[in-house]
Amino acid sequence: MTSDAVAIAQDTTVAPEEIAALGAALTGSVLTPDDPGYDEARIVWNGAIDKRPAVIARCAGTADVIDAINFARRSKLLVAVRGGAHNVAGNAVCDDGIVIDLGPMNAIRVDVQARRVRAGAGATIGAVDRETQAFGLAVPLGVVTATGIAGLTLCGGHSWLTRKHGFACDNLISVDMVTADGRYVTASEDENADLFWALRGGGGNFGVVTSFEYQAHPVGPEVTLCAPFYPLEQAGDIFRRWRDYMADAPDDYTAQFVIWSIPAHENFPPDLHGRAVAIPVGVHSGPLDEAAAFVAPLRELGEPLIDLSGSIRYLDVQQAFDPFFVEKAARLHFWKSIYLDVLDDAAIDRIVARAADRPNPWTLLSTRLMGGASARIPAQATALGGREAPFMFSIDTGWTAKADSERAVAWTREFWEEMRQGGRGSAYLNFVGAGEDTEAMMRASYGDANYERLVEIKTKYDPTNMFQLNQNIRPRAT
Ligand SMILES: Cc1cc2nc3c(=O)[nH]c(=O)nc-3n(C[C@H](O)[C@H](O)[C@H](O)COP(=O)(O)OP(=O)(O)OC[C@H]3O[C@@H](n4cnc5c(N)ncnc54)[C@H](O)[C@@H]3O)c2cc1C
Repeated sequence: MTSDAVAIAQDTTVAPEEIAALGAALTGSVLTPDDPGYDEARIVWNGAIDKRPAVIARCAGTADVIDAINFARRSKLLVAVRGGAHNVAGNAVCDDGIVIDLGPMNAIRVDVQARRVRAGAGATIGAVDRETQAFGLAVPLGVVTATGIAGLTLCGGHSWLTRKHGFACDNLISVDMVTADGRYVTASEDENADLFWALRGGGGNFGVVTSFEYQAHPVGPEVTLCAPFYPLEQAGDIFRRWRDYMADAPDDYTAQFVIWSIPAHENFPPDLHGRAVAIPVGVHSGPLDEAAAFVAPLRELGEPLIDLSGSIRYLDVQQAFDPFFVEKAARLHFWKSIYLDVLDDAAIDRIVARAADRPNPWTLLSTRLMGGASARIPAQATALGGREAPFMFSIDTGWTAKADSERAVAWTREFWEEMRQGGRGSAYLNFVGAGEDTEAMMRASYGDANYERLVEIKTKYDPTNMFQLNQNIRPRAT
């Protein structure tokens, strides 16, 4: 090793002149630890993640991605792939390796006639919403506008439109990608169909996606929000009645039962700041009169402290959670999720009991109503797991002091085990914390048949596991 060479994990070194050559080749830019902007470029949303890559390749186009992958392979660098950097496990960054950052590749084109949208892998939910709503369209992606579409889509993508139009990955028409050996490929039903199957739920395991093509749908401009905030003390009863009412929910209605504490934010009356609440929240994207009639009983499950229900622009409801989640590295997070086969009274009681004992007020517990369009897609039509479950539960634990990390993570794991109740423990892989992607958990989440097929496709496209910083599917030994 020369004294000024950069030390890399996996016992490799990269000479500065090789990094400089990569920088000269890219239309985008290369950042190393001494460059201005390096710290900003390595930050991810979860403040618990603090990693220092040797090289950050900010790619401006497909040619840059090919060069970055070839460079990483030659140098035997650990590879992290970055879309919107919102993944809570923090896989968008690594120590000592290379980050292939798609952020600059964020162009969006809407084909209004065909209702198709082509979006670069660096685009965010908010940017796609803005471009599509200009034409009265929407792609079902997710909530919180700064979230990247790339990581989100590859592991599913749950939004306010999921029961009506399926997960984000169900709306994919094609995907452009660069493989571990630097090949540019397109995947669709007609081309590389095995890869297209795997990319709909299999995460970032197969290569670096450069762009996604989606089917869009007419939505809004106004939809109906249901958001009465009830005191947590009434949660047990309200939760049961919400569950029973959801048995007849139309596909137009996508819903969650959220337990949270009202943030100290100007959007809420000061006397309610910090109040623990239960919110049967949902969005109805059908006709406004039908929607108002459907949500009315949910607004009368008790005496709400505040009720934000009513018709609202789709663009506004998409941004409604932003003030509480948007800032990068503001808090430390550890999340876990589990698909529930049943939401019986015992499960509700467990959630409500734990709600009173959250490590801090920001910890959000969400029980998502599944079913509808996403459940009508056969389990083996795409890689995505969990479609058949009636509910998905997530524990989004957040805290501020590093000293509290051990306790917060332990609390989350214990609670998750309680919810598992000896079941198989299938997770929604977009809500999985660092280090949780054990082979047993991955298999449980995909189901045996889909998992075996994913391993085959991983072995074909990434036999050396170059793309291992993700919810990892290990290739077969070759
Ligand atoms: C505030 C917040 C709100 C959220 N809301 C929702 C929601 O409403 N619905 C939902 O389903 N999820 C939601 N999520 C979870 C979200 O789907 C995941 O965190 C997802 O990974 C974010 O994608 P990203 O591109 O921002 O992530 P990144 O951290 O950039 O990437 C995550 C992983 O995705 C892979 N990846 C990223 N880009 C590429 C690429 N171009 N090619 C190949 N692989 C790539 C890599 O494996 C990478 O490690 C939310 C997360 C946060 C923090």
